[in-house]
Amino acid sequence: MSPGKLVVAIDGPAASGKSTTARLAAEKLGYIHVDTGAMYRAVTLKVLRAGIPPDDRKAIGGLLRETHVALRREGGVTRVLLDGHDVTEEIRSREVTRSVSIVSRHRAVREAMVREQRRMGAEGGIVLEGRDIGTVVFPDADVKFFMIAGIESRARRRAQELRTKGAEPDLDGLMKEIRERDSLDSTRKESPLRKADDAIEIDTSDMTIEEQVRTVVDRVRRIAEGRA
Ligand code: C5P
Repeated sequence: MSPGKLVVAIDGPAASGKSTTARLAAEKLGYIHVDTGAMYRAVTLKVLRAGIPPDDRKAIGGLLRETHVALRREGGVTRVLLDGHDVTEEIRSREVTRSVSIVSRHRAVREAMVREQRRMGAEGGIVLEGRDIGTVVFPDADVKFFMIAGIESRARRRAQELRTKGAEPDLDGLMKEIRERDSLDSTRKESPLRKADDAIEIDTSDMTIEEQVRTVVDRVRRIAEGRA
């Protein structure tokens, strides 16, 4: 793998600032950005549309055999395709958000997603963000970050995001949802959310997006230069 083409892992809990940071850092580095949460969300959408209960392991295993999730870059925006159809907006719905942590607990779901993520990252030059990138998907990633933030700043950020979409979010409800999702993601048996021992922790509570992006980009450049 050429030194300028590193594998960068960004993990962390819900609404910790991963997605925006990963997307902008990848743009600056000229790397591909992979939002692995979007992939789990797409599978969840399919499960809900099929009327399958999110905890029905057997039925989900069967459904996966005929499921294809892909990310495609179009005009500066990443579109999420489920079986060839654009579901970029639908996967952000409240229903999907409520069920995604249940669906993503199943081993068959994780295996299918991880296989695809490893394939995408095989050439390097990629920023992957999620919950298990530095621990499971790419334990040998060249640079690993773990982003955290206080629950209130995370809920405020999520509220701001929802307001831009015309919603009127209730902050307490959002905090409850975020806590529940974190708890499910951190306590599951398969690939729980966990900071890799060699990950650099970034607390984004009081950081601007620019500062977060700079922290990531500077570190990646320094490591890439050291190897050149
Ligand atoms: O990143 P985002 O909040 O969109 O992720 C949605 C959900 O997908 C997470 O709460 C988690 O349950 C699941 N996920 C996962 N492993 C990843 C990325 C996301 O289990 N690598």
